[in-house]
Amino acid sequence: MGSKVYFIEASINDGQELISDKAVRLFKAGGFSDCFQENDFTAVKVHIGEGGNTTYIKALYIKGLVAELLALKTKPFITDTSTLYVGRRHNAIDHAILAEEHGFCPDVLGIPFISPDGLFGTAETSIKINGQLNKDVSIASDIVRSQSILSVAHFTGHIITCAAGTIKTLGMGCASRKGKMRQHASLKPSISDDCRRCGECVKYCPEGAITLDDIKAHIDKDKCIGCAECVAVCRFGAVKYDWGAESQQIQKNIAEHALGALNGKKNKAVFFNYIISVTKDCDCFKTPDMPKMVDDIGIAASTDPVAVDKAAIDMVEKKTGEKLGELLENNKLNPFWQINHAEQIGLGRTKYELIELN
Ligand code: SF4
Ligand code: SF4
Repeated sequence: MGSKVYFIEASINDGQELISDKAVRLFKAGGFSDCFQENDFTAVKVHIGEGGNTTYIKALYIKGLVAELLALKTKPFITDTSTLYVGRRHNAIDHAILAEEHGFCPDVLGIPFISPDGLFGTAETSIKINGQLNKDVSIASDIVRSQSILSVAHFTGHIITCAAGTIKTLGMGCASRKGKMRQHASLKPSISDDCRRCGECVKYCPEGAITLDDIKAHIDKDKCIGCAECVAVCRFGAVKYDWGAESQQIQKNIAEHALGALNGKKNKAVFFNYIISVTKDCDCFKTPDMPKMVDDIGIAASTDPVAVDKAAIDMVEKKTGEKLGELLENNKLNPFWQINHAEQIGLGRTKYELIELN
């Protein structure tokens, strides 16, 4: 018997209230209230959506879940860490302002947005995990100190990791700046002759690692932290890296950081994947109205972070008849590098039992 994954069909056409109600039905069906105790500081881990992005999971989609936590008399707070790339989530102040603009605030949800890694993304706790790649990982301090976690991931594709769901939201999204840098360390892109000298990558590189000469852009590999911002912003496909080896390494690193983020939270964590508005790129993109790569599917929830991601991938691939890498137009990308590694290190199980609510 595999881990239980609870599922309900949902679409953005349902409207925000019904989507929220459906998430609550999953919460109740799964008996997830047992994971939260009175006076727990409960981290409600979300992605508030980069400024300009319109396909992120809206605050009102999780309103009912927050109400459940409040009814249990926990102390929930909406949370996400600072990004490596320069944008509106790069530090706690800009992040909190954007969170309010996107409705992740007391007026809408009745609870505040608090960055768990401090003003600058440096408030961290080192967690021993004895993984294959990392003996310890750097996790945002207030994720570590919270007694319980309700993770709400928006399941999407991802240019580097193929799938961006629960494991990614835990591994990358709960790591401090140092933890993120370590996860990205294996990514060392270079710039090909397709470069048109537009300068976008220079503008967005957080480390000032890119310069332009008369012919094209160049990356100083000593300065590069592997954040992949240049891969994301180049419209001409000029930024290259070794998709196979480097994606595999990053995905394994993400799984190991996810293990660190959940340290001490056995039976104190619940994971939701919203498999709606599934775009090729994640919510870090400031692009409005990114097209869906599959029609809306629904919401999956489990106490097993690996099972809930495996179920989401299976559902997307079943609905489209294509592998996730094919949907992303990059056959070399494989989401099972993170899934299988996560299972090997004890984060969860790939075998699951789907319990469908109607
Ligand atoms: S964004 Fe792409 S095309 Fe523009 S300068 Fe950088 S590598 Fe060259
Ligand atoms: S050159 Fe390195 S640090 Fe700069 S944007 Fe690209 S990956 Fe990030």
